[in-house]
Amino acid sequence: MSATTTDVVIIGAGIVGLATARAIHAARPGTRVVVVDKEPTLARHQTGSNSGVIHSGLYYRPGSLKAALTVAGKIELERFCTEHGVAWERCGKVVVATRPSELDALATLAARAEANGVAAERIPLGRLRELEPHVDGIDALHVPGTGIVDYPAVCRALAAELTDAGHEVRLGTTVLGGDERRDGVTVHTDRGDIGSAVVVNCAGLQADRIAASWPGATTGVRIMPFRGEYHELVPGRRDLVRNLIYPVPDPRFPFLGVHFTRRVDGTVEAGPNAVPAFAREGYRWRDVDLRDAVEIVRARSSHVLARRYWRTGLGEIARSASRQAFVRALQRLVPDVRADDLRRAGAGVRAQAIDAAGNLLDDFAFAETPRALHVVNAPSPAATASLAIGRTIAARVTERLSA
Ligand SMILES: Cc1cc2nc3c(=O)[nH]c(=O)nc-3n(C[C@H](O)[C@H](O)[C@H](O)COP(=O)(O)OP(=O)(O)OC[C@H]3O[C@@H](n4cnc5c(N)ncnc54)[C@H](O)[C@@H]3O)c2cc1C
Repeated sequence: MSATTTDVVIIGAGIVGLATARAIHAARPGTRVVVVDKEPTLARHQTGSNSGVIHSGLYYRPGSLKAALTVAGKIELERFCTEHGVAWERCGKVVVATRPSELDALATLAARAEANGVAAERIPLGRLRELEPHVDGIDALHVPGTGIVDYPAVCRALAAELTDAGHEVRLGTTVLGGDERRDGVTVHTDRGDIGSAVVVNCAGLQADRIAASWPGATTGVRIMPFRGEYHELVPGRRDLVRNLIYPVPDPRFPFLGVHFTRRVDGTVEAGPNAVPAFAREGYRWRDVDLRDAVEIVRARSSHVLARRYWRTGLGEIARSASRQAFVRALQRLVPDVRADDLRRAGAGVRAQAIDAAGNLLDDFAFAETPRALHVVNAPSPAATASLAIGRTIAARVTERLSA
């Protein structure tokens, strides 16, 4: 057991934690930063199991943090990748309406894109077929600025930059809790205490628990884990999809619906769905964590959520349990896709915050005490927005360091 001291401890070496460390270094050179993560490798959870899309910002409520930080973060991320040799591509995407009942929602998306300053245009079906020859639909939006990237490679580049600048990324170190005093904080880990002026909690799926145990922090939210399962197109059928093909999302639900995504390595994924997970870090149905499961089943907010979204939830569970149901959802976009064209790929678990009344929090959210900042809601598109989220947090951290 060893005790170290530093200026800022960041809990979590996912993309938000690493981007925050980078932004603190840029805002206040000379500040010593230690990033700790319980896993032996970087980006082990959400960042390493996401869709790899650089979102452009059309879905988010104008004026929200999500809208502002995604639009800004996307440009910064593209520049970072170019400068650091990380694979990325601005390939564009189509959002396709397949039923008349989706046309209003498509029009709302087009209006949001305009309000958020995101280039997106309604395209005739002929143009849709030029872009994606295998897609069927009745109307579509083309978003040329959307891209794809290798997020774990972004994290490796961020971590290398940090260690080159003299900061520390300490893997395999679990944060157990902490104490906050007027003159600093002590972060307790399974490998000793770390004394620091400020702590930033970027622990993703565990962020609410760390915040809840932190002296003085009240968040009123908890993380509801939603697993997203992927299939991938077998190599001989990848030509069904050129780039990114999305359905019109259900505006009452924060997830985008199963879609097709070409990844930077040339594979094509279909998914993710959104099923309740009974383990925050459980990537298969059979993964059940007793503490997580009991908490979900007991919480009143989960019951409200289940009552409100039972129909959508059942559909998602059906698409998880039955490959045929999953394929039918995909065939609405690409009728030629068949069950044989798909094989199971991985899964990710989304850290989606839910408030006491059972509302899914839409925007990025933070909780603060004088010396701690907790990122309590950073779901999609927080990977896209990470460098801008990092700058926002760094501004609050440097205020505290300078006080
Ligand atoms: C299925 C899926 C698809 C998505 N698709 C996209 C997409 O295409 N584009 C996009 O922009 N966003 C996407 N997202 C969202 C995006 O991946 C997340 O918003 C982003 O990765 C969040 O990053 P993070 O650093 O906050 O969390 P994480 O990447 O989860 O990192 C949190 C870290 O904290 C560590 N940690 C937790 N507890 C402790 C502890 N006690 N001590 C030490 N370390 C701890 C964990 O090990 C982990 O490494 C998707 C998410 C999912 C799940």
